[in-house]
Amino acid sequence: MRVFFIGFGQAGGKVVDMFIEQDRKSGSNNFRGIVVNTARTDLMGLKNIEMKDRILIGQTVVKGHGVGTDNVTGARIAADEIDSIINAIDTRGTHDVDAFVIIAGLGGGTGSGGSPVIARHLKRIYREPVYAVGLLPAPEEGRLYTYNAARSLSTLVKEADNVFVFDNAAWKNEGESVKNAYSRLNEEIVRRFGVLFRAGEVGKAGVGEMVVDSSEIINTLRGGGISSVGYAVTEVVSERTKKKKGLFGGLRDSIGKKEEAPEEMLTGEDKSAKVIALVRRAMLGRLTLPCDYSTAERALVLVAGSPSEMDRKGVEKAKSWVEENIAGVEVRGGDYPVESNYVAAVVILSTIGEAPRVRDLFEIAKQTKEEVIRSKEKRVSMFDEAGVDPLFE
Ligand code: GDP
Repeated sequence: MRVFFIGFGQAGGKVVDMFIEQDRKSGSNNFRGIVVNTARTDLMGLKNIEMKDRILIGQTVVKGHGVGTDNVTGARIAADEIDSIINAIDTRGTHDVDAFVIIAGLGGGTGSGGSPVIARHLKRIYREPVYAVGLLPAPEEGRLYTYNAARSLSTLVKEADNVFVFDNAAWKNEGESVKNAYSRLNEEIVRRFGVLFRAGEVGKAGVGEMVVDSSEIINTLRGGGISSVGYAVTEVVSERTKKKKGLFGGLRDSIGKKEEAPEEMLTGEDKSAKVIALVRRAMLGRLTLPCDYSTAERALVLVAGSPSEMDRKGVEKAKSWVEENIAGVEVRGGDYPVESNYVAAVVILSTIGEAPRVRDLFEIAKQTKEEVIRSKEKRVSMFDEAGVDPLFE
């Protein structure tokens, strides 16, 4: 899949920068992208995005200092400067792109406000689908972040074709601050979505038995709403693969469990069983957004890795197992062979009906809004009750 990334705000910029780095290292050249921010220092801190693809907006309003956590200003600036953003995207080239993917932290200001705006305009201008990867703030960041994220997510769901949600709170370790966890969380994001968004592109290992192409991913995401992604990986060690360091060289199982012992290459039934076990582990392990998978309307199963480990029967059986466990009947899937001594399974659970974290987010946002209104009324009445005339009206 050829993806055009738009990283909005600090978090979005860092994650896109990492995608571009991964793409460059693997030599696959499937990803391109720009980053947009109201804060000059955030743009300067990136390492891999070319300077010309770092777009500073809102200079006349915030003078390169960012919008703080004011996502209304973030949205306004993005709308005012939409032409220069679209222009930068066009200059980078969009003719061979399969999808746009906007990435942003939804709790802040620039990305939270700007991503629904850019989603709306991209959808109007291009025929290709527009997806978002929205990062939810941890509750410890405070209620303003939660409130911003709730407003941004509810707008984004309407504007984008589908929103992948990644919950920072679910991924940081107990006792660890979100800030300290950022680079690890970003690696987790890039690892999962890197495998997914690269699917269908012919790699060095050739074409798979039952290839997942971009239309399968697009059809899975067609229902809209929010999606969550599961992932599991296992190492394959054989004489032939021992020496290889492939695309997934950096892919460890980082679901917080003990690393699995390397497994020998398998054949026949064993190979199928291993694929099924891997897919189950992906779906039942930690998802990007913890959710009730049985409420998902559609799913996609992708098995990527060493061609010798790909198994058609295993993928078919794994698809049936996923189908039995989700609400809908549309389960797509296939393989993506790449030169690697790892095998990874990615499961997209799409158009999810129930995620407690999202419900909580909206509940806290609702309470916060009511409290803001109450304290505003209190303030107004305190001055009204004083009965002192202002100097002028
Ligand atoms: P913006 O620049 O105004 O869009 O705001 P930020 O991107 O700095 O922050 C918005 C949200 O994203 C907050 O909830 C942060 O916790 C989160 N965030 C910031 N940086 C990162 C990052 O590198 N990775 C992740 N996963 N989240 C981040």
